[in-house]
Amino acid sequence: MTTTFHRHWRDVPESAWRWPNFSPAEIACRGTGKLLINEPALDKLQALRDRLGKPLIVRSAYRSPEHNRAVGGATRSKHLDGAAFDIAMANHDPVAFEAAAREVGFRGFGFYPRSGFIHVDLGPARQWGERFPVRETAFAEETPPAREVLAERRLLVTKP
Ligand SMILES: [Zn+2]
Repeated sequence: MTTTFHRHWRDVPESAWRWPNFSPAEIACRGTGKLLINEPALDKLQALRDRLGKPLIVRSAYRSPEHNRAVGGATRSKHLDGAAFDIAMANHDPVAFEAAAREVGFRGFGFYPRSGFIHVDLGPARQWGERFPVRETAFAEETPPAREVLAERRLLVTKP
């Protein structure tokens, strides 16, 4: 068996957890605390974390059927198998994230630019949602801070 169910993430013995950058609480159902440990999926999540070298902020991982219904999840959502993860893009470049996720073996991708996360899963290869808009952050250091620009403009206006 590569999946193990726990009625609460607190019941997971320390010896059963081997993904150093994630905790049972982060992966457990946010509505019930239940946890389905899907080992192959967690191995891929850890591989993705290792490849990117930056924290992965998990917005949603395993979902119990009752919580999946409550949040309006798809009836056959891979979250129900513990094989899907919604990862915040606050600290990631979405393009680099997607490439790395594909390299480690994730095949399903859902893009939620307005909510700021990407869904990755181990279901069939497919994708949905609109890609994230290209960010300016890659060149942010070369852009003058907005406040200075404003100050300059005010100066121009108030000068006689
Ligand atoms: Zn998802």
